[in-house]
Amino acid sequence: MLYDVVVPAPVPRLTYRVPEALAALVVPGRRVLVPLGSRRLTGVAVGPSPESADGAGAREILRVLDDGPLVTPDVLALTLWAADYYLCPPGLAVRAALPPGIEVAEQRALRLTEAGHLALGGGTVPASVRRELAAVEAGVAISLPVNKRLVAGGLAEEVAIAISPRVNSPTVEFAGPAPDAASRVAELSRTPAQARVLEWLLARGRSPVEELAAAFPHARAALKKLTARGFASIESAPAGPLREASPWDTARRHALNPHQQAALTAIAGALGAFTPFLLHGVTGSGKTEVYLGAIEATLARGLCALTLVPEIALTPQLAGRFRARFGDEVAVLHSGLTPSERLGEWRRVSSGRARVVVGARSAVFAPIAKLGLVVVDEEHEPSFKQEEAPRYNGRDLAVKRASLCGAVVVLGSATPALETLHNARAGRYRLLRLPERVDGRGLPAVLLVSLAGMKRVREPEAKTGLFTQELGSALNDTLARGEQSILFLNRRGHSTFVLCFSCGAAVRCPQCDLSLTHHEGARKLVCHTCGHTQPTPTACPACASTEVALLGAGTEKVEQEVRALFPSARVLRLDRDTASARGATASVLAAFARREADILIGTQMIAKGHDFPGVTLVGILCADAALNIPDFRAAERCFQLVAQVSGRAGRGEAPGSVVLQAFDVTSPAVRCAEHHDYDTFANTELADREALRYPPFARLCLLRFEGESASATEAVARRLASAASRAALARGGDVEVLGPAPAAVARLRNRYRWQALLKARSHGPLAEVARAVLSEKVAGDVRVVADIDPASLL
Ligand code: ADP
Ligand code: ZN
Ligand code: ZN
Repeated sequence: MLYDVVVPAPVPRLTYRVPEALAALVVPGRRVLVPLGSRRLTGVAVGPSPESADGAGAREILRVLDDGPLVTPDVLALTLWAADYYLCPPGLAVRAALPPGIEVAEQRALRLTEAGHLALGGGTVPASVRRELAAVEAGVAISLPVNKRLVAGGLAEEVAIAISPRVNSPTVEFAGPAPDAASRVAELSRTPAQARVLEWLLARGRSPVEELAAAFPHARAALKKLTARGFASIESAPAGPLREASPWDTARRHALNPHQQAALTAIAGALGAFTPFLLHGVTGSGKTEVYLGAIEATLARGLCALTLVPEIALTPQLAGRFRARFGDEVAVLHSGLTPSERLGEWRRVSSGRARVVVGARSAVFAPIAKLGLVVVDEEHEPSFKQEEAPRYNGRDLAVKRASLCGAVVVLGSATPALETLHNARAGRYRLLRLPERVDGRGLPAVLLVSLAGMKRVREPEAKTGLFTQELGSALNDTLARGEQSILFLNRRGHSTFVLCFSCGAAVRCPQCDLSLTHHEGARKLVCHTCGHTQPTPTACPACASTEVALLGAGTEKVEQEVRALFPSARVLRLDRDTASARGATASVLAAFARREADILIGTQMIAKGHDFPGVTLVGILCADAALNIPDFRAAERCFQLVAQVSGRAGRGEAPGSVVLQAFDVTSPAVRCAEHHDYDTFANTELADREALRYPPFARLCLLRFEGESASATEAVARRLASAASRAALARGGDVEVLGPAPAAVARLRNRYRWQALLKARSHGPLAEVARAVLSEKVAGDVRVVADIDPASLL
């Protein structure tokens, strides 16, 4: 019998022979060990090969690894569909559906033969060989030539030894302080690293070691010493459902308003058959409450529910609301968990113990049987797109998965992606609207203020003037009323570039074609793309002039100015710099929710679906900061971000207001955001997209070319772009090829970047042309990537 298997390597499906003994065990979705070249790989059995398959050169499946299929039939079908659609090797796509840490390769070990044992004991071979045999006996590694010689001489043989998954059982290690540790901290004065770790433990109590390890460098080593000295102890406990206590864990249930009720009735009534919905509800309109009701209806029908959220670490609140309603039925799947935690949750899902799954984009592959409902919250978010192979969009796969298993899918957003809106208008999705905020609360009043030629707040300590007078006095009033404010600027760091006034040069990353950002806290320049750091210069590296200035503000500078302007305000900041430690994001958000701070400053990390009833003012420092990036979605992203951030204001009893600062107060994105006018923005933008032939009126595939040599990269880009043009011509001309041209960031991590864009009316011809490009031979190190439905053209 012949069987198709996919393996985690850049190859298509392969055909293997099934040995008699394994015939009953090989079923679709089960992992199998197969030979590929000189390697042995863990593949996944897909199904019997088609009749036409040629078994002449086929090798045998070596082993079957699981008790039952690891990948359910609908997920297997989904991954194979994704591999085909996103032009990804099928084994890489299927790997995305496997639980973490179980991928194994059989290990080869050397063992003495009987002759080898005799030789070792009997002295019939030279002493040097005896030493080699002793090494093999002891399991010490020996060199390959020696290995070969011993095997050839019949003294040793290669055997396959146990297959060891990286994660055996889902247990979690916890560390805790010893009972008397608090009184003995002084003994650690000469070992500050250990003292820091102990203080952390004392502050948090018993905590997962993984969390501690994420909080400090070398924390594990320090913890080991602390345990040896009796300051702390470590224990393992089985990973249960993950429950962080959260201030939002309240089971408060609301009577739905008529709009919510109508939406819920439509969704619940559609359960049992594939039905896609767009739930378009303004910020604070109670979309989550509708999801929860729909999930309840799903469970009542004996079905399971999956909810995808853009970045779950940023929405701990959402998981809390789910747990409050569904308790231990909830499983949370996202990349912030340790592998063993993830495996634990994965098993709760596959065993059917957890029927409500909440997760980031990869949860679209969760092993859920009887899936009845898929919810995609904030469906417009670009983070649903995975930026490495398989380059899938979690939202689009959610719709596909729902169609494969006859489920209802609800795409929810206050600012739906134009693609999704277009689908709804074309009748492919049923449109549900929540046009008002709950409880008759209004959307916040927005004050649009121009930054061009503005009168800035000028205090002696804060001379750069990020704050218009309008924003300054609004902040002042909000503080005076004891209410909370959010300040948003989508750039981290202190100053986004260092400019020389003599020669005009900005300090650039030596590895990337980007200027470096000054970080005041770390007192250095950082490349936000590759992580390169260097001291912030006091003189220009190019011309040695000391006339250098730190320009372009980031969140760190905002914080500095806020502290200077409002010295008594309690300020928190949330961006990737402050959130590097695991759990830090959640604790900052929780502290702000407990009203332990007056002002929260942050990047888009604070824009997501947080619900802070105490916030009455949102200040957007520069709405159009990213409006001029060379990407056709720049305006859409700008509008979405402003609308999302504005939506944080006035979600409690008190009405909210927004101060919207922008350089260009006439751009449609900014004007429409001022008036909460999604429809006008969408119509204006859709007209532009149609005229320029961009999505949703065309399909795109971005071809990227990256290499260490500028000339080789350019040459490959030019050659493959003409190959694309030829392939496009051969298919009748619907596919348009733009470029090649250097990418907007022309060099990244020392690699030169070129790109070309394919446009077509439909996916089929686009993918055919992309396949033709990918099949071209490319010599040297130039990497060619085809990104279907790209989320970003940068
Ligand atoms: P969205 O997801 O649309 O931004 P949420 O579902 O988070 O909105 O709801 C916003 C707030 O309103 C939450 O605090 C929620 O508990 C509350 N809420 C939801 N539905 C109702 C309702 N029908 N009546 C009163 N409050 C509600
Ligand atoms: Zn200079
Ligand atoms: Zn760099």
